[in-house]
Amino acid sequence: RPDLPGDPAAPPEFPAGTPVAVLTAEGLDRFLDYRAPGGGVSVGDFVAAPLGPRRVLGVVWGPGRGGFPPEKLRDIARRLDVTPMRGQMREFLTRAADYTLTPLTLMLRLASRAPGLGEPPASRPLLRLTEDVPERMTEARARVLAAFAEYGNLGFAPGELAALAGVSHGVVAGLEKAGVIRREIVTRDPPFPRLDPEAPARALSPAQAAAAATLRARVASGAYSTTLLKGVTGSGKTEAYLEAVAEALAAGRQALVLLPEIALSVEFLDRVEARFGARPVEWHSGVTQANRRRGWTAVAEGRAQLVVGARSALFLPFADLGLIVVDEEHDGSYKQEEGVIYHARDMAVLRASIEKAAVVLASATPSLETWANAEAGKYARLELPERFGVARLPEMAAVDLREAAPGPGRFISEPLARAVSDRLAAGEQVLLFLNRRGYAPLTICRACGHQVGCDNCDARMVEHRFRGRLVCHQCGATRPIPTRCPACEVEGKMTALGPGVERVAEEAEALWPGARRAILSSDLAQGAAELKARIDEIAAGGADLVIGTQLVSKGHNFPHLTLVGVIDADLGLQGGDLRAAEKTFQLIRQVAGRAGRAERPGLALIQTHLPDHPAIRAILENDDEGFWRAEAEQRRFAGAPPYGRMAGIIVTGTDETRAWETARALGRAVDGLRALGAEVYGPAPAPIARIRGRWRARLLVKAPKGVAIQSAIHAWIAAVAVPANVRVTVDIDPQSF
Ligand code: ADP
Ligand code: ZN
Repeated sequence: RPDLPGDPAAPPEFPAGTPVAVLTAEGLDRFLDYRAPGGGVSVGDFVAAPLGPRRVLGVVWGPGRGGFPPEKLRDIARRLDVTPMRGQMREFLTRAADYTLTPLTLMLRLASRAPGLGEPPASRPLLRLTEDVPERMTEARARVLAAFAEYGNLGFAPGELAALAGVSHGVVAGLEKAGVIRREIVTRDPPFPRLDPEAPARALSPAQAAAAATLRARVASGAYSTTLLKGVTGSGKTEAYLEAVAEALAAGRQALVLLPEIALSVEFLDRVEARFGARPVEWHSGVTQANRRRGWTAVAEGRAQLVVGARSALFLPFADLGLIVVDEEHDGSYKQEEGVIYHARDMAVLRASIEKAAVVLASATPSLETWANAEAGKYARLELPERFGVARLPEMAAVDLREAAPGPGRFISEPLARAVSDRLAAGEQVLLFLNRRGYAPLTICRACGHQVGCDNCDARMVEHRFRGRLVCHQCGATRPIPTRCPACEVEGKMTALGPGVERVAEEAEALWPGARRAILSSDLAQGAAELKARIDEIAAGGADLVIGTQLVSKGHNFPHLTLVGVIDADLGLQGGDLRAAEKTFQLIRQVAGRAGRAERPGLALIQTHLPDHPAIRAILENDDEGFWRAEAEQRRFAGAPPYGRMAGIIVTGTDETRAWETARALGRAVDGLRALGAEVYGPAPAPIARIRGRWRARLLVKAPKGVAIQSAIHAWIAAVAVPANVRVTVDIDPQSF
């Protein structure tokens, strides 16, 4: 069934010299005609082709369009030794480009982001089996020989061989000394160990077993489907969808699991290894260049069975993809906001529909889009209503800050402080949650009222006391914390206003000096490995009091944690964002879900000025369905997604006047869109009106659901002259509106 072009026995579609269209991966948004090289090429072939003085990577997309003087056609330099791009992949990229209004070349670049494609793997001395038989056979030595039998006499690095065979390095060294294995120069990638889909699973609860059976059947059908797997944190969703993975692997198809965060993937890799006996292929920004090329190639050749990765893994060249899992599908990190603007959940569904694969969207708090699609019957819906084993959902209660306000410059209320003291006295772990990095969001001069802002952005500088700097969260610029006001030059009046996690940690230190504290904030860890180590230490009970940002809301298991204090539940509810309630609901439900994962019952205390806000009430009353229904009603009324179409048009430029002139010209040229029934709002300053020195104006397009806004927007922008230093980007289905 999979369409595998590039059969070496088949003649090339285009013999040497025929004009063919090549889509270049860099710089150009169009097909260029070239002459096929000696040996010819076929559609989907990766090629190296000259472009001006450079040589670029391209993919043969079809016959040349002609019309170009044949004597001016340049020659493709060579066909690369890379598995050709399948028809399904080309269709996916084309449709994704159309949907997101992105040049196809940029999509293609996402799909070929593996350095050294077509280059042979590095040659290095690796251990291979000789003809000699060991004089003394031991069980461990037999396992090494069995590894060669299983994987072939490919050549292995010593550590790799020890790991594949499950023996110590000493055993490998001993065999080398005995002459049974020998180092030879070998040109190859190390193989990925096989995952065993028949390895025994854990005993599933009845609810898990039912969900797993349905998921397995959907994968086995070989047809496209999307299923929402809804279940509170700790209900065993991961365990259930691993069965769907097993089904795909057993059918000889590939599976992809998307996770919202790299630090989570380490825990997940362990679980995959426990379930299938080996680790999957990883794909995210932390993977080395060499391993990228190796992973990409193994995925294209169908040797990689399971990929675990970030959203960009959706653009890998799977040979036969049978399943895509989007874990924590509501998570905001699935939206890529720069370069190619896309939502991984939408792209997963698109790709699966083309590949005839099953999609599983797993979450305790699905996005409204997914909930609505399940309501409408477009997605199937499975529920895991209870936590696995003895763990229970935490009890939820509000602390009304209008009555129990902490003193000035303090953020932990009396009722919360009492609850924390109780839990600490009982030897239990506590989490204080505030979704704000740094010490204080605002540095203000008490003499003149000046607020310290970033020079490059329309944003305030945030104090990070642990680093001793003010930091811009938009562009990363830093400067020393001033003692003298940059505006009125008065000394000693600069004051930090408002809380960040560091400040809450400081307050906690004063309240509970004996407690072992840990701060979890993305800026305080050096990379994923350190973060993972810290999380493990906390999970093992290495801290009494955890103070964290939204990092803690994501999937980590903290078995000793029994109390979650939400410092400011109203933080995300301010501002005019229509998704504010949804995001707050998801975040606080996720954070509260960290409490009480083991035997001890959990409690979540939520500090708020708005205990009657529908989102806060729904959180307190555990009323998911009521919340989504009310949210859906509001969105429907506003004609907002998922009940209407929306697109954000961001116009940016270093020259404010030019950027705004372009935005205003767009604002005037809206007749075509209006004729389709769409409305255009703006231009207005974008939510952050300047970032990295570029001014940002925004227009919003809103249209009824049935209107294909992409082509209309494309025509609209194409008709307006855009100066060279101004950029117009389109964000279909923006996250904030
Ligand atoms: P979720 O993905 O819904 O948050 P998990 O699959 O991570 O839930 O399960 C929560 C916890 O329960 C994990 O520690 C997991 O190891 C454990 N667990 C889940 N299902 C089983 C099972 N069938 N047998 C044993 N432990 C399980
Ligand atoms: Zn800045």
